Order: sequence, then structure tokens, then C-alpha cells
Amino acid sequence: MKKDTHPNYYPKAKIKCACGAVLETGSTQEKIETEICSMCHPYFTGDKKVIDTAGRMERFQKITEKSDKVRKALKKSAKPVKKTKVLKSSAKKNLSSIKKTAK
Ligand SMILES: [Zn+2]
Repeated sequence: MKKDTHPNYYPKAKIKCACGAVLETGSTQEKIETEICSMCHPYFTGDKKVIDTAGRMERFQKITEKSDKVRKALKKSAKPVKKTKVLKSSAKKNLSSIKKTAK
């Protein structure tokens, strides 16, 4: 048998989380430090807090703000289209006059 093929195993390794929780597990590392664990992750806690490390959320919000402004500006500049009732008879007249001019 070869010797030293397996790393040391710690049956009571401790996982320390940034939230303060300490969990015990078996591992080849004696101490593990994490930023998030099952005690504080929104998936497990049910919070709707957004975890954002790279500022992606902020960027997305900025983009949506910009597009909202553009949309509002477009709405202001565009005149509202009035719905008008077109009588059938007048529509027919128009059609016939169009046909006449086409010939
Ligand atoms: Zn945690």
C-alpha cells in the first residue's frame, strides 16, 4: 500500500460564516470561512433581500431608469390618437373616389 495518498480528514471541521453562524462538518480543511451560508442566504431565510457583489443590480436599475425617462419623453411628444367613428357611407364614398382617381 502506498503511504500518504490521502489528505488529513477532520471529522469536526468548522465552517465560519460572515453572518456569525458556525457549522460543523467533515472536511480535509480544519477551518473554512464563507461569506454566505444556509443560515443567512435568502433562499433559506425567505427574505427578498438582493445579494449583489458586483454592482450588477445598480447597473440594471440605472438602465431601467434611463429607458423610463426616454419612454416618458416619447409619450409627451407623441400626440394622442383620437378615435373617430367613420361612417360606412362616407367610407364607401372615399373608396369610390379613390378608385376613380386610380383609373
Ligand atoms: Zn451565514
